[in-house]
Amino acid sequence: MITITTRQGKQVEIVLESELCSPVDMGERVRAYCHIHGSDHQRSLSINKATGWGHCFNAACGATVLVVEWNRALAKRLLHSHYRGLMIAGGTATLPDYAPPERGTRYRPYVVQPMLLPPPRSIPQWQQDELQALRELDGQMRCALVYTRRARMYLNERGIPLKVALATGVGYLPSDLLNGRAMRRQRGLLRRWADRIVFPLNSLDGRGYIGRSLWHWQPGMNETAHKALLERPGSPKRWIKTYPAGWFSADFEEMPRAVILVEGAFDRLTLLAAGFAANEIIALVGTAAPVEWFPAQVKTVALALDGDEGGQEAGSRLADQMEQAGLRVKMCPLSQDGRGKDWNERWQRMGRKSVAPVFEAFYGVRSA
Ligand SMILES: [Zn+2]
Repeated sequence: MITITTRQGKQVEIVLESELCSPVDMGERVRAYCHIHGSDHQRSLSINKATGWGHCFNAACGATVLVVEWNRALAKRLLHSHYRGLMIAGGTATLPDYAPPERGTRYRPYVVQPMLLPPPRSIPQWQQDELQALRELDGQMRCALVYTRRARMYLNERGIPLKVALATGVGYLPSDLLNGRAMRRQRGLLRRWADRIVFPLNSLDGRGYIGRSLWHWQPGMNETAHKALLERPGSPKRWIKTYPAGWFSADFEEMPRAVILVEGAFDRLTLLAAGFAANEIIALVGTAAPVEWFPAQVKTVALALDGDEGGQEAGSRLADQMEQAGLRVKMCPLSQDGRGKDWNERWQRMGRKSVAPVFEAFYGVRSA
């Protein structure tokens, strides 16, 4: 067990699964005797298996714990900041005499409960094949975006310069590309990806893709009309994803100290068109924002989510989780003035002025 103090002054006990005293699986939560205040009367420690966070209900103790194995990435992040803090405070690199927890070393388990760990998700073969087929076409899809006039016009009408899209790895899958003899094997798998703008995604499980359908889109057709068309029964889905999916963002290692979170892929392209750097903007594209995905160098997150109720609710939930994980959060809500429900729509209507609030919020946090 290691006790660390977050930048908010909150004390967190980082524990190993093997340190839990007589844990009992209660479904979503695990209950255990609290080894922090040393109780063996009541299982006062209650831990959420999905997040690794737990709490001791004994009023005199009230410990907050994080179980390493159930949230490795976050535990690693917290330990990383902790050790760095110690090194700065100590002048010389004097590490405490406990090592960062590693499974199977030094710690003698009280109880071995391997069944507590969630089983790894097995990915159906077709999803693995689909992802592989898209990866193989990555270069061809980017070329296709350049030579397909209709796809270029679509970007243009959304106010996105072709070079901005290309620089972030965006492509297009034309139906004809699937008709060639060489594509016989992949044709069935990729049929649903035909006539889509395809965006590469990053996740801790590797690269994925999300595709936006251009089915029956014609130059001059606005986004609302096209959306309505795609929502009719029998139409293709507006967006589809691979497994794993992930964020439309730069690689995790490239992210700077301060980043901006937006909802949609086109919102990210909008902010890049407006002059933000590619590594500063992360589009969630419907993927939750697990705090453990933020690499240790990221300290501040500006939330520029959509202005609707869903976006606001998601925003405050996210802000809580991030603050709990030691990130600084800055809210940058989209104005509800009826001039567009997302950054891209506002960009099309108002131009550069539409993104001024994001610049303001961001330069505030970056210089802080
Ligand atoms: Zn306790």
